[in-house]
Amino acid sequence: MIKTAAFAGFSPTTPLVPHTIDRREPGPTDVQIEILFCGVCHSDLHTVRGEWGTPTYPCVPGHEIVGRVAAVGKDVTKFRVGEHAAVGCMVDSCRSCRSCNEGLEQYCDNRKVTWTYDSLDAHTGGVTYGGYSTTIVVDEHFVVHLPPSLDLAAAAPLLCAGITTYSPLRHWNVGPGSHVGIVGLGGLGHMGVKLAHAMGAHVTLFTRSASKVDDAIRMGADDVVLTDGSGAEVWRTAPLDLIVNTVALSHDLNPYLATLGRDGVMTLVGLPPTPHPPVHANRLTSKRRSLAGSGIGGMKETQEMLEFCATHRIVCDIELIKIQKINQAYGRMLRSDVKYRFVIDMASLK
Ligand code: NAP
Ligand code: ZN
Ligand code: ZN
Repeated sequence: MIKTAAFAGFSPTTPLVPHTIDRREPGPTDVQIEILFCGVCHSDLHTVRGEWGTPTYPCVPGHEIVGRVAAVGKDVTKFRVGEHAAVGCMVDSCRSCRSCNEGLEQYCDNRKVTWTYDSLDAHTGGVTYGGYSTTIVVDEHFVVHLPPSLDLAAAAPLLCAGITTYSPLRHWNVGPGSHVGIVGLGGLGHMGVKLAHAMGAHVTLFTRSASKVDDAIRMGADDVVLTDGSGAEVWRTAPLDLIVNTVALSHDLNPYLATLGRDGVMTLVGLPPTPHPPVHANRLTSKRRSLAGSGIGGMKETQEMLEFCATHRIVCDIELIKIQKINQAYGRMLRSDVKYRFVIDMASLK
């Protein structure tokens, strides 16, 4: 076992604190990674605070992981010691069902996805621990290459925020001429704006924060709609083809649906702890609109997204923090006071 320094939560209401975990020794197809940077996703907060149900404590979050390969198993073919590599939200799946074979491991038909943290770990019989730690050991199928031109710290959040917005934009065929709406300018939302813009879409950002308007335009938004969350709002936009809704709290979806054109789709990626208020059927039937959902992205698409970002020179806007500031960072994330993703410099944990 590899003794590994980490930060863990021990209950829904207490702060994360230093903790030591064990990582397995790398097996034949495993890659051992020295973690250099880890992004802070709102899902980390939902999980460790028990907002989606009680996790197994101690809980070590973190699934936006970038580092250096420290060791490889004897059958590893994709990675060499010393190169940079990254890990996102999954570390295993059944790898034999239709979804896994199609590169959509996150939708594994056998429900065998092993999430990077708080998931049953078949290797140890315990639970998986995430990237708020100095080392991780992952099967090479679930490790991706980092294009060398990407800044390491600013690339870390691509592993969740990037792929979670890239995948629906691709699935619903966004390209030149598309009208895309992004709801919320947080970690996911700011990547959604940059990626949709790079794909050639006309981008409308919906935000509650007047202080974010200038940034949104700099990132590629063509229009910005300031919302007040009352639910009684009517917004004038060009008829939207696709809305990617990243909001982490339940809210009225009806005014957003009303901005979709005929056959328009709103896909939810935000995962609020409580259900959204009801949707009026008429908001869907009047223009054959759809309400959908999308979860992260598969391994092949994650690699493709990283290449797309390298080609278009896209990384995240980040605030680098020491791990000792993680509890304050959670507080600021809840106040929408992050521009636009916290990334932990793991040197602070050594
Ligand atoms: P985040 O950085 O906290 O951003 C969320 C943004 O939503 C905020 O910045 C804010 O933007 C907006 N917002 C917050 N409360 C709102 C409200 N009551 N009404 C309207 N807008 C509100 O969070 P994140 O890391 O991007 O994650 C967003 C959500 O996606 C979380 O629920 C997370 O668990 C989920 N997620 C899902 C997947 C997936 O696979 N589907 C993957 C990763 C994360 P403005 O200030 O601009 O309004
Ligand atoms: Zn995430
Ligand atoms: Zn499967």
